[in-house]
Amino acid sequence: MNPFYRSTKPPATTCEYCGRTVDPATRIDTVVPDSTYLHADDPRQDGRRLGRACSAEHADELIALGTRNWIDEQLWANKLRRASGHWNRTETTLSGIADRAGLTPTQLMRAIRWRSETSRKDWGWGRGGRDPCTSNSDHGHPTELP
Ligand SMILES: [Zn+2]
Repeated sequence: MNPFYRSTKPPATTCEYCGRTVDPATRIDTVVPDSTYLHADDPRQDGRRLGRACSAEHADELIALGTRNWIDEQLWANKLRRASGHWNRTETTLSGIADRAGLTPTQLMRAIRWRSETSRKDWGWGRGGRDPCTSNSDHGHPTELP
């Protein structure tokens, strides 16, 4: 490697699983299932965010973690919340609302029920306290292991 280029290389990122600093050249970008995530412009990519890992093993762990924590209703409730921000107030039919949120009426009902059951918890854009990926801590191991 030419040492000349060192100062211009992109900043290192950290592995979401173990928190280790990862060189961009060896970083693994992977798609991680995440039911709290909504894509900014493409609803088809809701629930699938880009994750960064130091190794293929940790990329697999990130995917496994996302799969374990996945809640269908959480994703649907988020979609509903996004849609409810700008729907036409005259649209009051269930199927109309479901349509706008990109859900089936059944999914809509389950999302509403889930939301009311978890309304006392902090749901939605924030995350629960069990996710080691968001703690940004310096101890280089996840807090939750099987
Ligand atoms: Zn790692």
